[in-house]
Amino acid sequence: LLGPNIGEAMDHLPAVQAALRGETGARRETVESSEWLVGYDSANGYRDYPGLGWRVLTMTPMEIAYAPIREIEGGLLLLGTIAALIGSGISYLVARRLTAPLNRLAEDARRSSDRPETAFLSRSGGSREVVRLSQALRALVRRIGTYEQDLATVSAEASALAEHNSVLKEMAQTDPLTGLLNRRGFFEAVEARFVGKPQTDLSVLVLDIDRFKAINDTHGHGVGDTVIQAVARLCRQQCREGDLVARFGGEEFVLLLPGCPGPAAVAFAGRLRQRIADQRIETQTSPIGVTVSIGVAWGQDISEGLNEAIDRADRALYRAKVNGRNRVEARLPSPAA
Ligand code: GH3
Ligand code: MG
Ligand code: MG
Repeated sequence: LLGPNIGEAMDHLPAVQAALRGETGARRETVESSEWLVGYDSANGYRDYPGLGWRVLTMTPMEIAYAPIREIEGGLLLLGTIAALIGSGISYLVARRLTAPLNRLAEDARRSSDRPETAFLSRSGGSREVVRLSQALRALVRRIGTYEQDLATVSAEASALAEHNSVLKEMAQTDPLTGLLNRRGFFEAVEARFVGKPQTDLSVLVLDIDRFKAINDTHGHGVGDTVIQAVARLCRQQCREGDLVARFGGEEFVLLLPGCPGPAAVAFAGRLRQRIADQRIETQTSPIGVTVSIGVAWGQDISEGLNEAIDRADRALYRAKVNGRNRVEARLPSPAA
Protein backbone atom coordinates (compact mmCIF):
# COMPACT_ATOMS: atom_id res chain seq x y z
CA LEU A 1 0.00 0.00 0.00
CA LEU A 2 1.66 3.21 -1.05
CA GLY A 3 1.33 6.30 1.12
CA PRO A 4 2.84 9.78 1.08
CA ASN A 5 6.56 10.20 0.27
CA ILE A 6 8.01 9.64 3.71
CA GLY A 7 11.48 8.09 4.10
CA GLU A 8 13.28 6.19 1.37
CA ALA A 9 11.60 5.23 -1.92
CA MET A 10 11.60 1.47 -2.33
CA ASP A 11 10.95 0.78 -6.00
CA HIS A 12 14.73 0.59 -6.70
CA LEU A 13 14.99 -2.47 -4.47
CA PRO A 14 15.57 -5.72 -6.41
CA ALA A 15 12.88 -7.39 -4.28
CA VAL A 16 10.29 -4.76 -5.30
CA GLN A 17 11.32 -5.06 -8.94
CA ALA A 18 11.05 -8.84 -8.82
CA ALA A 19 7.60 -8.54 -7.20
CA LEU A 20 6.55 -6.14 -9.97
CA ARG A 21 7.66 -8.71 -12.54
CA GLY A 22 5.25 -11.13 -10.88
CA GLU A 23 7.94 -13.36 -9.28
CA THR A 24 7.64 -15.09 -5.98
CA GLY A 25 10.55 -15.28 -3.51
CA ALA A 26 12.52 -13.66 -0.74
CA ARG A 27 15.59 -11.42 -0.66
CA ARG A 28 17.82 -9.74 1.79
CA GLU A 29 17.71 -5.96 1.42
CA THR A 30 19.21 -2.94 3.09
CA VAL A 31 16.61 -0.29 3.84
CA GLU A 32 17.51 2.83 5.77
CA SER A 33 20.80 1.20 6.70
CA SER A 34 19.32 -1.86 8.40
CA GLU A 35 19.05 -5.40 7.12
CA TRP A 36 15.67 -6.81 6.21
CA LEU A 37 14.31 -10.04 4.89
CA VAL A 38 11.84 -9.10 2.15
CA GLY A 39 9.34 -11.71 0.86
CA TYR A 40 7.19 -11.07 -2.21
CA ASP A 41 4.33 -12.77 -4.09
CA SER A 42 1.38 -11.87 -6.34
CA ALA A 43 -2.31 -12.26 -5.48
CA ASN A 44 -3.89 -14.75 -7.93
CA GLY A 45 -7.59 -14.21 -7.16
CA TYR A 46 -9.85 -16.97 -6.00
CA ARG A 47 -11.17 -19.83 -8.24
CA ASP A 48 -12.69 -18.13 -11.39
CA TYR A 49 -12.01 -14.67 -10.02
CA PRO A 50 -8.72 -13.32 -11.47
CA GLY A 51 -8.17 -10.88 -8.56
CA LEU A 52 -6.96 -7.33 -8.61
CA GLY A 53 -3.34 -8.11 -9.57
CA TRP A 54 -1.94 -7.07 -6.14
CA ARG A 55 1.70 -7.59 -5.35
CA VAL A 56 2.37 -8.26 -1.65
CA LEU A 57 5.73 -7.69 0.07
CA THR A 58 6.47 -8.47 3.69
CA MET A 59 9.51 -7.10 5.56
CA THR A 60 11.02 -8.47 8.74
CA PRO A 61 14.29 -7.27 10.37
CA MET A 62 16.96 -9.90 9.73
CA GLU A 63 17.72 -10.57 13.38
CA ILE A 64 14.07 -11.37 14.04
CA ALA A 65 13.67 -13.44 10.89
CA TYR A 66 16.81 -15.51 11.66
CA ALA A 67 16.32 -15.75 15.43
CA PRO A 68 14.86 -19.32 15.29
CA ILE A 69 17.77 -20.42 13.06
CA ARG A 70 20.28 -18.91 15.49
CA GLU A 71 18.52 -20.76 18.25
CA ILE A 72 18.71 -24.03 16.36
CA GLU A 73 22.37 -23.32 15.53
CA GLY A 74 23.15 -22.77 19.23
CA GLY A 75 21.33 -25.96 20.15
CA LEU A 76 23.20 -27.90 17.46
CA LEU A 77 26.56 -26.53 18.66
CA LEU A 78 25.80 -27.59 22.22
CA LEU A 79 24.62 -30.99 21.06
CA GLY A 80 27.70 -31.36 18.88
CA THR A 81 30.00 -30.44 21.76
CA ILE A 82 28.30 -32.92 24.08
CA ALA A 83 28.44 -35.62 21.38
CA ALA A 84 32.12 -34.87 20.79
CA LEU A 85 32.88 -35.07 24.53
CA ILE A 86 31.02 -38.36 24.91
CA GLY A 87 32.67 -39.67 21.72
CA SER A 88 36.17 -38.83 22.90
CA GLY A 89 35.44 -40.35 26.32
CA ILE A 90 34.33 -43.56 24.68
CA SER A 91 37.35 -43.51 22.32
CA TYR A 92 39.65 -43.03 25.29
CA LEU A 93 38.12 -45.97 27.13
CA VAL A 94 38.23 -48.18 24.05
CA ALA A 95 41.81 -47.15 23.29
CA ARG A 96 42.82 -47.87 26.86
CA ARG A 97 41.20 -51.26 26.71
CA LEU A 98 42.95 -52.00 23.43
CA THR A 99 46.37 -50.72 24.47
CA ALA A 100 46.37 -52.15 28.01
CA PRO A 101 47.79 -55.54 26.91
CA LEU A 102 50.36 -53.75 24.75
CA ASN A 103 51.39 -51.58 27.70
CA ARG A 104 51.65 -54.67 29.91
CA LEU A 105 53.77 -56.32 27.24
CA ALA A 106 56.02 -53.26 26.95
CA GLU A 107 56.37 -53.08 30.74
CA ASP A 108 57.24 -56.80 30.89
CA ALA A 109 59.83 -56.36 28.15
CA ARG A 110 61.36 -53.38 29.94
CA ARG A 111 61.56 -55.27 33.24
CA SER A 112 63.08 -58.26 31.51
CA SER A 113 65.74 -56.05 29.88
CA ASP A 114 66.55 -54.57 33.31
CA ARG A 115 67.30 -58.02 34.67
CA PRO A 116 69.13 -59.92 31.91
CA GLU A 117 69.42 -62.99 34.14
CA THR A 118 65.64 -63.48 33.97
CA ALA A 119 65.14 -63.44 30.24
CA PHE A 120 61.45 -64.32 30.51
CA LEU A 121 58.28 -62.63 29.34
CA SER A 122 54.94 -63.65 30.82
CA ARG A 123 52.13 -64.75 28.50
CA SER A 124 49.73 -61.89 27.82
CA GLY A 125 46.10 -62.02 26.72
CA GLY A 126 44.05 -59.61 24.62
CA SER A 127 43.20 -59.43 20.95
CA ARG A 128 44.49 -62.03 18.50
CA GLU A 129 47.16 -59.59 17.34
CA VAL A 130 48.32 -58.93 20.89
CA VAL A 131 48.53 -62.65 21.62
CA ARG A 132 50.56 -63.19 18.47
CA LEU A 133 52.82 -60.27 19.29
CA SER A 134 53.28 -61.60 22.81
CA GLN A 135 54.16 -65.07 21.50
CA ALA A 136 56.69 -63.63 19.07
CA LEU A 137 58.24 -61.48 21.80
CA ARG A 138 58.38 -64.42 24.20
CA ALA A 139 60.21 -66.50 21.60
CA LEU A 140 62.61 -63.61 20.94
CA VAL A 141 63.32 -63.06 24.63
CA ARG A 142 63.90 -66.81 25.14
CA ARG A 143 66.42 -66.82 22.32
CA ILE A 144 68.15 -63.70 23.61
CA GLY A 145 68.33 -65.36 27.02
CA THR A 146 70.00 -68.40 25.50
CA TYR A 147 72.49 -66.26 23.61
CA GLU A 148 73.26 -64.23 26.71
CA GLN A 149 73.96 -67.40 28.66
CA ASP A 150 76.16 -68.70 25.85
CA LEU A 151 77.98 -65.38 25.72
CA ALA A 152 78.51 -65.40 29.49
CA THR A 153 79.87 -68.95 29.30
CA VAL A 154 82.13 -68.11 26.37
CA SER A 155 83.52 -64.96 27.99
CA ALA A 156 84.06 -66.81 31.29
CA GLU A 157 85.89 -69.52 29.36
CA ALA A 158 87.86 -66.91 27.43
CA SER A 159 89.02 -65.15 30.60
CA ALA A 160 89.86 -68.50 32.24
CA LEU A 161 91.82 -69.35 29.12
CA ALA A 162 93.60 -66.00 29.13
CA GLU A 163 94.49 -66.50 32.80
CA HIS A 164 95.66 -70.02 32.04
CA ASN A 165 97.73 -68.71 29.15
CA SER A 166 99.45 -66.11 31.24
CA VAL A 167 100.19 -68.75 33.91
CA LEU A 168 101.57 -71.04 31.21
CA LYS A 169 103.61 -68.20 29.75
CA GLU A 170 105.05 -67.39 33.15
CA MET A 171 105.80 -71.07 33.75
CA ALA A 172 107.53 -71.29 30.38
CA GLN A 173 109.69 -68.30 31.31
CA THR A 174 110.47 -69.23 34.90
CA ASP A 175 112.95 -71.63 36.43
CA PRO A 176 110.91 -73.67 38.92
CA LEU A 177 113.79 -74.29 41.37
CA THR A 178 114.76 -70.65 41.91
CA GLY A 179 111.85 -68.63 40.55
CA LEU A 180 114.35 -66.72 38.37
CA LEU A 181 113.94 -66.30 34.62
CA ASN A 182 115.06 -69.31 32.61
CA ARG A 183 117.06 -68.94 29.40
CA ARG A 184 113.90 -68.50 27.31
CA GLY A 185 112.37 -65.99 29.76
CA PHE A 186 115.63 -64.08 29.80
CA PHE A 187 115.70 -63.58 26.02
CA GLU A 188 112.01 -62.75 25.90
CA ALA A 189 112.47 -60.16 28.66
CA VAL A 190 115.45 -58.67 26.76
CA GLU A 191 113.32 -58.53 23.63
CA ALA A 192 110.44 -56.81 25.45
CA ARG A 193 112.68 -54.44 27.37
CA PHE A 194 115.55 -53.42 25.09
CA VAL A 195 114.95 -54.16 21.41
CA GLY A 196 114.37 -50.91 19.57
CA LYS A 197 115.48 -48.91 22.62
CA PRO A 198 119.17 -48.12 22.31
CA GLN A 199 121.09 -48.79 25.52
CA THR A 200 124.38 -47.12 26.18
CA ASP A 201 125.86 -49.24 28.95
CA LEU A 202 124.85 -52.85 29.34
CA SER A 203 126.99 -55.31 31.25
CA VAL A 204 126.66 -59.08 31.27
CA LEU A 205 127.79 -61.32 34.10
CA VAL A 206 128.04 -65.10 33.81
CA LEU A 207 128.31 -66.74 37.22
CA ASP A 208 129.07 -70.39 37.96
CA ILE A 209 129.25 -72.12 41.35
CA ASP A 210 132.70 -73.54 42.02
CA ARG A 211 133.10 -77.29 42.38
CA PHE A 212 129.43 -77.80 42.64
CA LYS A 213 129.67 -81.43 41.66
CA ALA A 214 131.56 -82.02 44.89
CA ILE A 215 128.69 -80.45 46.89
CA ASN A 216 126.25 -82.77 45.20
CA ASP A 217 128.52 -85.73 45.74
CA THR A 218 129.22 -84.94 49.39
CA HIS A 219 125.85 -83.64 50.62
CA GLY A 220 123.40 -85.01 48.12
CA HIS A 221 121.32 -83.51 45.36
CA GLY A 222 118.82 -81.95 47.78
CA VAL A 223 121.51 -79.89 49.45
CA GLY A 224 122.82 -79.02 45.98
CA ASP A 225 119.38 -77.62 45.16
CA THR A 226 119.32 -75.59 48.39
CA VAL A 227 122.72 -74.13 47.49
CA ILE A 228 121.49 -73.18 44.00
CA GLN A 229 118.46 -71.48 45.57
CA ALA A 230 120.61 -69.59 48.08
CA VAL A 231 122.97 -68.32 45.37
CA ALA A 232 119.95 -67.30 43.23
CA ARG A 233 118.46 -65.39 46.17
CA LEU A 234 121.71 -63.51 46.78
CA CYS A 235 122.06 -62.60 43.11
CA ARG A 236 118.52 -61.24 43.10
CA GLN A 237 119.06 -59.33 46.35
CA GLN A 238 122.24 -57.66 45.13
CA CYS A 239 120.75 -56.58 41.82
CA ARG A 240 118.88 -53.40 41.04
CA GLU A 241 115.23 -53.24 40.02
CA GLY A 242 115.81 -53.13 36.26
CA ASP A 243 118.49 -55.85 36.19
CA LEU A 244 117.68 -59.25 34.71
CA VAL A 245 118.75 -62.36 36.62
CA ALA A 246 118.38 -65.74 34.96
CA ARG A 247 119.37 -69.32 35.67
CA PHE A 248 120.65 -70.62 32.38
CA GLY A 249 120.90 -74.21 33.59
CA GLY A 250 122.72 -76.32 36.22
CA GLU A 251 124.54 -73.98 38.60
CA GLU A 252 125.10 -71.25 36.06
CA PHE A 253 123.49 -67.81 36.16
CA VAL A 254 123.46 -64.85 33.77
CA LEU A 255 122.94 -61.30 35.01
CA LEU A 256 122.20 -58.39 32.68
CA LEU A 257 122.84 -54.94 34.18
CA PRO A 258 121.46 -52.04 32.12
CA GLY A 259 123.03 -48.62 32.66
CA CYS A 260 126.09 -50.20 34.25
CA PRO A 261 129.46 -49.55 32.55
CA GLY A 262 132.16 -52.24 32.63
CA PRO A 263 134.22 -51.02 35.59
CA ALA A 264 131.08 -50.65 37.73
CA ALA A 265 129.99 -54.12 36.63
CA VAL A 266 133.34 -55.55 37.63
CA ALA A 267 133.06 -53.89 41.04
CA PHE A 268 129.53 -55.20 41.44
CA ALA A 269 130.67 -58.72 40.48
CA GLY A 270 133.42 -58.50 43.09
CA ARG A 271 130.95 -57.53 45.82
CA LEU A 272 128.55 -60.28 44.79
CA ARG A 273 131.33 -62.87 44.78
CA GLN A 274 132.34 -61.75 48.26
CA ARG A 275 128.77 -61.85 49.61
CA ILE A 276 128.31 -65.40 48.33
CA ALA A 277 131.64 -66.53 49.73
CA ASP A 278 130.77 -65.01 53.12
CA GLN A 279 127.41 -66.69 53.36
CA ARG A 280 126.78 -69.84 55.38
CA ILE A 281 124.01 -71.69 53.65
CA GLU A 282 121.67 -73.52 56.01
CA THR A 283 121.02 -77.07 54.82
CA GLN A 284 119.33 -80.16 56.28
CA THR A 285 122.72 -81.30 57.65
CA SER A 286 125.11 -78.47 58.43
CA PRO A 287 125.66 -74.95 57.12
CA ILE A 288 127.97 -74.93 54.12
CA GLY A 289 129.79 -72.29 52.19
CA VAL A 290 130.26 -71.99 48.46
CA THR A 291 132.20 -69.77 46.15
CA VAL A 292 131.45 -68.62 42.65
CA SER A 293 133.45 -67.51 39.66
CA ILE A 294 132.18 -64.64 37.55
CA GLY A 295 132.97 -63.51 34.02
CA VAL A 296 132.06 -59.94 33.05
CA ALA A 297 131.52 -58.50 29.58
CA TRP A 298 130.53 -54.96 28.71
CA GLY A 299 128.98 -53.84 25.48
CA GLN A 300 127.75 -50.55 24.08
CA ASP A 301 124.90 -52.06 22.15
CA ILE A 302 124.15 -55.42 23.61
CA SER A 303 120.68 -55.78 22.10
CA GLU A 304 122.49 -56.25 18.78
CA GLY A 305 125.01 -58.82 19.99
CA LEU A 306 123.75 -60.12 23.31
CA ASN A 307 124.80 -63.69 22.54
CA GLU A 308 128.23 -62.46 21.59
CA ALA A 309 128.49 -60.56 24.90
CA ILE A 310 127.39 -63.64 26.85
CA ASP A 311 130.08 -65.66 25.01
CA ARG A 312 132.69 -63.08 25.99
CA ALA A 313 131.55 -63.19 29.62
CA ASP A 314 131.64 -67.00 29.43
CA ARG A 315 135.24 -66.90 28.18
CA ALA A 316 136.07 -64.55 31.05
CA LEU A 317 134.42 -67.03 33.42
CA TYR A 318 136.56 -69.82 32.00
CA ARG A 319 139.64 -67.71 32.76
CA ALA A 320 138.39 -67.18 36.30
CA LYS A 321 138.07 -70.95 36.72
CA VAL A 322 141.53 -71.57 35.26
CA ASN A 323 143.02 -68.84 37.42
CA GLY A 324 141.86 -70.53 40.61
CA ARG A 325 138.07 -69.96 41.02
CA ASN A 326 136.33 -67.66 43.53
CA ARG A 327 137.27 -64.70 41.39
CA VAL A 328 136.06 -62.22 38.82
CA GLU A 329 137.49 -61.85 35.33
CA ALA A 330 136.42 -59.26 32.81
CA ARG A 331 136.50 -59.13 29.03
CA LEU A 332 136.06 -55.44 28.41
CA PRO A 333 136.35 -54.18 24.82
CA SER A 334 139.93 -53.17 24.07
CA PRO A 335 140.37 -49.40 23.70
CA ALA A 336 141.24 -49.92 20.03
CA ALA A 337 137.91 -51.72 19.35
P1 GH3 B 1 133.46 -75.91 38.26
O1 GH3 B 1 134.02 -75.22 39.45
O2 GH3 B 1 134.46 -76.11 37.19
O3 GH3 B 1 132.25 -75.22 37.76
O4 GH3 B 1 133.09 -77.32 38.75
P2 GH3 B 1 131.61 -77.90 38.85
O5 GH3 B 1 131.65 -79.12 39.63
O6 GH3 B 1 130.70 -76.84 39.41
O7 GH3 B 1 131.27 -78.08 37.36
P3 GH3 B 1 130.27 -78.97 36.57
O8 GH3 B 1 129.65 -78.12 35.51
O9 GH3 B 1 131.09 -80.16 36.08
O10 GH3 B 1 129.21 -79.45 37.57
C1 GH3 B 1 127.91 -78.98 37.57
C2 GH3 B 1 127.08 -80.00 38.26
O11 GH3 B 1 125.85 -79.45 38.62
C3 GH3 B 1 126.78 -81.20 37.40
C4 GH3 B 1 125.30 -81.52 37.66
O12 GH3 B 1 125.11 -82.81 38.17
C5 GH3 B 1 124.89 -80.51 38.70
N1 GH3 B 1 123.58 -79.99 38.50
C6 GH3 B 1 123.07 -79.47 37.35
N2 GH3 B 1 121.79 -79.07 37.58
C7 GH3 B 1 121.52 -79.33 38.89
C8 GH3 B 1 120.36 -79.12 39.72
O13 GH3 B 1 119.35 -78.61 39.31
N3 GH3 B 1 120.44 -79.49 41.00
C9 GH3 B 1 121.55 -80.04 41.52
N4 GH3 B 1 121.58 -80.39 42.79
N5 GH3 B 1 122.64 -80.28 40.77
C10 GH3 B 1 122.63 -79.93 39.47
MG1 MG C 1 130.40 -75.09 38.41
MG1 MG D 1 128.71 -75.28 35.45
